[in-house]
Amino acid sequence: MTISRDAVLDWIKAYAAAIATDKDALTQLDAQIGDGDHGANMHRGFQAVLAKLPGVADKDIGSIFKTVGMTLVSTVGGAGGPLYGTFFMQLGTATSGKMEMTLADWSAALQAGVDGVVMRGKANPGDKTMVDALLPAAAALKVAAANGAALPSALRMAEQAGREGMVATIPLVARKGRASYLGERSAGHQDPGATSSYLLLRTAAETWADSG
Ligand code: ADP
Ligand code: MG
Repeated sequence: MTISRDAVLDWIKAYAAAIATDKDALTQLDAQIGDGDHGANMHRGFQAVLAKLPGVADKDIGSIFKTVGMTLVSTVGGAGGPLYGTFFMQLGTATSGKMEMTLADWSAALQAGVDGVVMRGKANPGDKTMVDALLPAAAALKVAAANGAALPSALRMAEQAGREGMVATIPLVARKGRASYLGERSAGHQDPGATSSYLLLRTAAETWADSG
């Protein structure tokens, strides 16, 4: 079972739709511990991405991801734009030339994406950022792949790990990004970036579980 190039395009569209649906919720989370723009930022970025997809419809998966990343960097300001831009550009480098991905390919790409975010933003696990959702998901995917799990269940395990990582940001004190300016007062709120990252994992599981 593999993830086709069309399935990758479907995932990006599903994520853009999920962001559109949860735009206000993400903005409310960011209003609690940041400046209240995360939902609007992500929505603007992914609407721009949707407009670019027709131009990459026949391209390889790596080119699709790189286009997503570059579009996010050029349309989304703040911390989230460059970090999500880096994430997708690293996915693109990891999947360069591929017309489909195996579970092992996706596992390696997700790890490369998270590594890129960490390299760029210097967040450690537990700093209350998107890394707290992405890193456990990448780890869960790696374990699932090593254990020979089928693609749908591996994707669900990654989603579940990402959900737990997202929820676990609630009690944390932020040590990176705007929320860190609040110090102890950032505790008790779920991190907006971890929430938008969890949505990536959820939509991947929803979109790809039946693909291939
Ligand atoms: P800004 O903080 O510039 O307004 P956004 O509101 O779009 O940007 O994004 C905020 C999110 O970015 C945070 O919730 C957090 O998850 C993530 N973030 C901020 N700084 C970092 C960092 N250094 N490393 C990883 N993620 C970060
Ligand atoms: Mg913000």
